[in-house]
Amino acid sequence: MRLRNKPWAEEFLSQHPEIVIQNPEQYKGNWQKAFGNDHPLHIEVGTGKGQFITGMALQNPDINYIGIELYTSVIVSALEKIIDSNTPPNLRLLKVNGADLEKYFQKNDVSRVYLNFSDPWPKTRHAKRRLTHEGFLKLYESILIDNGEIHFKTDNRGLFEYSLISMSEYGMLLKYVSLDLHANMPEDNIMTEYEEKFSAKGQPIYRLESQFIS
Ligand code: SAM
Repeated sequence: MRLRNKPWAEEFLSQHPEIVIQNPEQYKGNWQKAFGNDHPLHIEVGTGKGQFITGMALQNPDINYIGIELYTSVIVSALEKIIDSNTPPNLRLLKVNGADLEKYFQKNDVSRVYLNFSDPWPKTRHAKRRLTHEGFLKLYESILIDNGEIHFKTDNRGLFEYSLISMSEYGMLLKYVSLDLHANMPEDNIMTEYEEKFSAKGQPIYRLESQFIS
């Protein structure tokens, strides 16, 4: 998802260091300092316009959340949403590439990784870019606690099938799989922007929870 270039966006991000973490390397191994408490940390890679991560932070005040997004033009919308939601104290944003997570996090920093409607990269030659490729699973394992979890939602059947196989071949435990999340919607489900869009068109939403085995 890339939006029109917004020239004011970089300045707007830098005006809100209390939400958009500057120099995130400084918190590697010490994210408690960024939040002022030692609550578990859950991250979303590819947070988009931030509806999910903001809803989760409001719903679960005893968990810390970081939304990670590559594009300035997109993350500014997440920042606006957070400000409009009275800036939950347990929520931060990081404008970085998810492929570089190891620069900012170390083993045991993160308790859960959320992936929502990740870009499918359908061409086989681009498989390594899929956020559930073995290379990314290795990266998540290197920053998660033992038995840390990935929670994944998508409308894309091909990516979902690929992810089930990728996680299973990696040796992860599949704890929950739904081929139609909205047919039996969990009460605490927070919808992402893409989830709203695709479910409104009648498309099924796939969801899984998987766990690394130590
Ligand atoms: N999660 C949101 C939702 O469900 O509405 C957005 C989904 S959108 C299809 C995928 C988002 O992931 C885009 O905003 C894209 O810029 C971001 N993204 C893709 N690859 C990324 C990466 N390597 N690191 C950080 N963000 C990434």
